[in-house]
Formats: sequence, structure tokens, C-alpha cells
Amino acid sequence: MPVDLQRVSSVDVQPGELPETMTAWVIRHEREGEPKDAMQIEQIEVPEPQAFEVVVRVMAAGVNFNNVWAALGRPVSVFRYHPDEDHHVGGSDASGIIWKVGPGVTRWKVGDEVVVHCNQASYEDVEVHGLDPLAAPSQRIWGYETSWGSFAQFCKVQAQQLLSKPEHLTWEEAASYGLTYFTAYRMLIDQADLQAGHRVLIWGAGGGLGVFATQLCALAGADAVGVVSSEEKGALVRRLGAVDHINRGEFAGMMRTGDETPDQEKQRVAVMRQFAKRVKQILGDAPDIVFEHVGRATFPTSVFVVKPFGKVVICGATSGFQLDFDVRYLWMRQKQIIGSHFANAWQCTKANDLVRDSKIRPVLWRTMGFQDVAEAHQLMYENRHSGKIAILVGATGGGQGRTAEGPGAIMAEVGA
Ligand code: NAP
Repeated sequence: MPVDLQRVSSVDVQPGELPETMTAWVIRHEREGEPKDAMQIEQIEVPEPQAFEVVVRVMAAGVNFNNVWAALGRPVSVFRYHPDEDHHVGGSDASGIIWKVGPGVTRWKVGDEVVVHCNQASYEDVEVHGLDPLAAPSQRIWGYETSWGSFAQFCKVQAQQLLSKPEHLTWEEAASYGLTYFTAYRMLIDQADLQAGHRVLIWGAGGGLGVFATQLCALAGADAVGVVSSEEKGALVRRLGAVDHINRGEFAGMMRTGDETPDQEKQRVAVMRQFAKRVKQILGDAPDIVFEHVGRATFPTSVFVVKPFGKVVICGATSGFQLDFDVRYLWMRQKQIIGSHFANAWQCTKANDLVRDSKIRPVLWRTMGFQDVAEAHQLMYENRHSGKIAILVGATGGGQGRTAEGPGAIMAEVGA
């Protein structure tokens, strides 16, 4: 069916009713590859909300690295996660309006303005009721391990995923922060027990996770140094509250590829030691916490540089997920490696309250139109972005949706 992109921002039905079809960006198994090829616009059916589910009219969506992985089909195809659907509608961040509620939903009603957190788990799993929903066998990241994400006119979510939209934010600002900010919140506040006075090293401090890790450190009274790949990103992370930045270009030799000869490895370790010295100079001592998501290239440095008894907290591996490092630095200095994955609804709510109070602000690099979803992911794949990218879906232009005064997003004016 031909798709009229002019009409994506309008819907022909009243709240409470759903149309039969909607416009969506779709990945299919047979075309997995670079985002520019894998993601295509299609007209598909609109899902009905089942028990404790809600269908939200998407006003804006947020772009995350997870749908770069979804497009690539790496490290695993998302169709392994949801084999019952032959399409993947990605998108793990949204702001929007509740359009239809399923049976059993009482806390939310049609017309409420919301943002969506991206953790799903079955209500029937016992882990949800006392341990942590992230421990449940049914746990999935919505819009990555499930379909019906936010790169469409409507998305389908569990009612527990809903959070009140901060009133002072536009639709695009509100859609931009959830996944990366809530992940950074759990990593630092819950997993690494961030305290006032701590010293923190943040890799990719100008990226989606990093801009929030940097702000959280400043808010908590911890000193952070941010690693970045350009002076412009360095200026951004200092503006977000970092004590200083390090341009990783100066220490390119410390990045681990995994196939170094013994001589090359010796040289790599020498550069890594220089880097550790620089970190200490900036922070006054070695970091108590290293905020990791780069993986193979940086992990040996993270384990080396963190203070004795310090913590390396990791949630991703952009440069490769097979990690190797000199384990002597770990056991002799009694360091800890902590895995972390997104956040539970309680953590998302507490973190969202800090945004509602303007203590943490979204960092928006670019707002793009619905037609640009594949291009936005391609920019991210090529690391030509900074901060976050938002996509207008139901909103007809930027700046809409704000209903209260407030400082809004920090604009990150660097990148491509
Ligand atoms: P992002 O916006 O692309 O930011 C990552 C930053 O890492 C980039 O800005 C880049 O900064 C830096 N970087 C990239 N490659 C690097 C390399 N080879 N060496 C050193 N630095 C490098 O992505 P993000 O949203 O922050 O996500 C980062 C990773 O975490 C992704 O792999 C994502 O899938 C994962 N993640 C996991 C979770 C979870 O819940 N498990 C949640 C969010 C994200 P510079 O070029 O400026 O150094």
C-alpha cells in the first residue's frame, strides 16, 4: 500500500478508537544490514491492547543504538527474540498520548500525556514481585527485543511502562532521554552506589549514555572526567558538569583490538599507563567508578585505571563484546566488574522525577522528521552524532507539547 508521509502526523480516528493500519518503519529479516537499507517505511496493521496494555499515539520517538544492532542483525537477529512476528517495528523511546487502554488498566486513561520506559516483563513471573523485573525470564527491551516500538504512528506497551510526561518539555525533548538516561541512572546510582566525593571516568561522555552519566555525577557531587573524540564534545561534557575531558585521539594506541603481537601489546600498555596518569592528574586520584559501554577497545584500560576496590560498571560493548584484560589488576587490587542492563519501573520513575524537576535535562543534538528514521540510525552507526536524536511523528513541528515553563533540553551543537 502506498504511504503518504504528509499524513503521518494526523490520524482519522478519535481517542479510544484505532485505525486498521498505520505507517511504520519496519525491519525484515531478509533485508538486515546497514540502517539505510534495513529500515523501510510500510503500512501495517495497528495492534489492539491486551490485558494491562496500552496503545499510545506516538508524538515523538527517540533514536538509540539498539536499533542500529536490530538493523544489522548483529550480534543476533531481533527475530530470534520475537519469532512470532515477521516484522520489527523498532523504537524504545516515545512521548505521546494514550489512545486506547486494554482490560485491567486503571492508573492511566485515554488522553493522558506520557513518556514510555522500555522494560517489559510478564506480570506472572515471580521475579517481578520481589526481586527485579530485569531478572524475569520474560524480560524484554520494548522496541528492540519486541516489535510495536515507537517508529510508527501508534505503539503498544505495558501499562507499567508509562511515566508522566514532564510538562515543561516539548514532545521531541520528552522522547529523547528515557533509554539512555534510565540505564545510566541504574548503573551509577544503584549498581555502582555513586556517592558525593567519588571520582568517575566516563567513556563516550558526549554520547547517549554519557551525557546523562556526566549530569548524574555533577548532581551527586562526584567529580567526573569524560572521554570524547573531539574538542566540541569535550566542551559539551564540561558544560554538563564534568571536571574536564580527555580527547581519546591523544591515546589512540591504548585501544585493544585483540590481535596485537606481543610487541604491539607492550606498546599498548605503555599508552594505557600514560592515559591512567592523565586521569589521575585531572581527578586528583584514580577513579572509584569507571562507566563502561565501549567494550573490547577500552575494557583492559577500565580495569587497569580504576582504583583498588573500585567498580567498573558496564552495559554495552560498541567496539566488540569479546573482552580480554590482564586479570591480575582485578584480583590483586580487589576491583569489581558489574554488569547492568536498563532499569526497572521504580528506578525509571525516580529518574524521571529528576527530569520533571529540571535537575537532569535532555541533551538533544538533532530533531528529525519521520522520513529520516533510517538516516538517523545511519548517523549513529557512523558515530557522527552527539547526545540524542529525536524523531517527530505525531507532532507537526518542533517546539510543540510544552504546557509549563521550564528550561527544556540542552542543545548539543556538535557532530556531523
Ligand atoms: P552513542 O550515543 O553512540 O554513544 C557512545 C559513545 O561511545 C560515542 O559517542 C563515542 O564517543 C564512544 N565510542 C564509540 N566507539 C568507541 C570506541 N571504539 N572507543 C572509544 N569510544 C567509543 O551510544 P549510547 O546510546 O551511549 O550507547 C552506547 C552503547 O551502550 C551501545 O552499544 C548501546 O547498545 C549500549 N547500551 C546498552 C544499554 C543497556 O541497557 N544494556 C542501554 C543503552 C545503551 P566518542 O567518539 O566521543 O569517544
